[in-house]
Amino acid sequence: MQHHTFQPGIIDFHVHPLPLLEEEVLVEELAAAGVSKAVLLAVDVDPGILDDRGVQARIAFEMFNAGLWDISALDYIKTILKLGRTPNEHVAALVEKHPDIFVGLGSINVSFGADYVARMSRKIRMLGLKGVKILSTLQLFNPAEKRGELRALFDEWAKSHGLVMIHTGCDPGPWENPLFSESARPSNYRWLIEEYPDVQVVLAHAGSYSMRYPGIWLDEALEIAKNNDNVWLDTAAVTYLASIEKFAAKIREALGWERFLFGSDYPTVTGRSLKSMVDEVLDSKALTSREKEMLLIENPRELLKKL
Ligand SMILES: [Zn+2]
Repeated sequence: MQHHTFQPGIIDFHVHPLPLLEEEVLVEELAAAGVSKAVLLAVDVDPGILDDRGVQARIAFEMFNAGLWDISALDYIKTILKLGRTPNEHVAALVEKHPDIFVGLGSINVSFGADYVARMSRKIRMLGLKGVKILSTLQLFNPAEKRGELRALFDEWAKSHGLVMIHTGCDPGPWENPLFSESARPSNYRWLIEEYPDVQVVLAHAGSYSMRYPGIWLDEALEIAKNNDNVWLDTAAVTYLASIEKFAAKIREALGWERFLFGSDYPTVTGRSLKSMVDEVLDSKALTSREKEMLLIENPRELLKKL
């Protein structure tokens, strides 16, 4: 154990302040883990769209194509959207209350059109948030069909040196099926990242999250990051990238740890405290002391300075 050898200043780049999560619980969880700053993420989802017959039919079609013949998955999706929905205003209010510990990212569902993207981007900036998160899984969009909207989003955030965080990898529930999460492969976004070298991008989960196939699209994520200096990767829900030797070594060889950001995904990883994830990194035998310091403190600090 060498916790004490680190300066204070651990930053968690991936925290979900779900409306059900009490503010005091979140603040205490961060303090208990020795985290001094956290990036809070909004999630712009609308459970109401699942009442639309057309949307239901489209999702059912995609599920069947993925080999998911479970109709109750639609109910599961609706529940996840209800629990996960985190308004931009909610994140902004927390940041305003604790500006010393919180940095906020808004969220925009690009499937609601380019006008919506522009209007929401202005609103999110006015709320004092530093960028946006998009997630093709819960927001139920296919990036190949939303090129115009994605360009509109990147145009907006290029103007204000903002950050775009993109969910990559599988997701819980029906999205554990990689075919149903195909939209969240990092390679779907390569063209966009290359078109906007000035927009800082975080590939959340480093393309790796999957219960069945841990590290599922890590190679793709690393390849994109290697060729694009504006790309960062976070360890949310995949802390094992920093503790399992084969992943840590692959990252060291393919890219280095210079653009990896510690993220917990708290409180969505069932049964894990934030502290247990920080400790997994601190106690890891797969990383050097220097790499731990970069992951937990220096890299996130450097990225935040750019915003
Ligand atoms: Zn997350």
